[in-house]
Amino acid sequence: MCQHCENGENMMKAAVVREFKKELVIENVAIPEIGKNDVLVNIKACGVCHTDLHAAHGDWPVKPKLPLIPGHEGVGEVVAVGENITHLQTGDRVGVPWLYSACGQCEYCLTGRETLCLHQQNAGYSVDGGYAEYCVADARYVVKVPDNLDYVEAAPIFCAGVTTYKALKVGEAKPGDWVAIYGVGGLGHVAVQYAKAMGYNVVAVDTFDEKLELAKELGADKIINPLNEDSAAFIQREVGGVQASICTAVSKKAFDEAYRSVKRGGKCVAVGLPPEMIEVPIFDTVLNAVSIVGSIVGTRKDLQEALQFAAEGKVKTIVETATLDQINQVFTDLEEGKINGRIVLTL
Ligand code: NAD
Ligand code: ZN
Ligand code: ZN
Repeated sequence: MCQHCENGENMMKAAVVREFKKELVIENVAIPEIGKNDVLVNIKACGVCHTDLHAAHGDWPVKPKLPLIPGHEGVGEVVAVGENITHLQTGDRVGVPWLYSACGQCEYCLTGRETLCLHQQNAGYSVDGGYAEYCVADARYVVKVPDNLDYVEAAPIFCAGVTTYKALKVGEAKPGDWVAIYGVGGLGHVAVQYAKAMGYNVVAVDTFDEKLELAKELGADKIINPLNEDSAAFIQREVGGVQASICTAVSKKAFDEAYRSVKRGGKCVAVGLPPEMIEVPIFDTVLNAVSIVGSIVGTRKDLQEALQFAAEGKVKTIVETATLDQINQVFTDLEEGKINGRIVLTL
């Protein structure tokens, strides 16, 4: 029972996926009950990630639960605390990330690679997420929102921020090296800023000129639209290839170009999740000693670090707000590439 439910009926508003590829339905559903290790979060804002669109479409080999409340950039206020939890209290400001929980005991959890845990749960995918007025979270995996960040600007850091910050770390470029950011959407627009804050030179790549203009405003040193010229050829010619290319684009073609944009010994970091295959020439991979590596969100520690960049003003999310009722239009706009930065639902 939630004492904070003002209408006394223990109901909340949520956007629900009932069937893949169908519109989300705005429903009144029961406020979930918390377990001993959980907190109940009164969601104030939740970013809309392209992953939520993949979830609602059932795009990937592993399907989400149905019905599903999507959302893994939900931030808000703790309103109830499970009996085992001592490190959080009501009133704390927290976010509920993709890594909703992990086992804490396996090889991956024990070696600081909790995002690889085979027993993990994922917010807005295997369990309900932040497109709702309330969300249950495993208290051990929520991360606090820094005091000076408001909910709306903090929300996208919980996925877009931490994911690209981690991907740049995985790319192992040194300050002064060139990196390429493929896709300047929700993820890419913060990736450009993390890359600059980490001391890299940045080439931004997107098929929309408005997004490239945004990338430039956010610090990108060079921009290239692959509709005008092969981006890999441009990058090889202009800067001799990049040490790391971070591909956030939902496009097989972008992955192909991201792979060819790296210099010898460089890394192509796969982040975007189009449900397709990439083909890689063995000869070039061997001779150029190029790595292709996947990177999946980030750990709680990565998330704390990513939030710190935002708290210090080194990374600023570009957000527009929408209401829960507008979610289907937001999904359409996201699919059509019409969104600059991130849309954040306010509740
Ligand atoms: P988004 O739609 O906001 O951004 C994608 C961007 O790619 C858009 O700006 C689009 O114009 C651009 N693009 C499309 N085709 C391109 C091309 N050929 N070349 C260059 N750019 C191109 O999506 P998002 O929320 O940033 O998410 C991007 C992808 O990352 C999704 O597939 C999502 O599921 C995935 N994702 C992965 C992780 C992870 O941990 N690996 C985390 C979050 C999201
Ligand atoms: Zn996401
Ligand atoms: Zn584990």
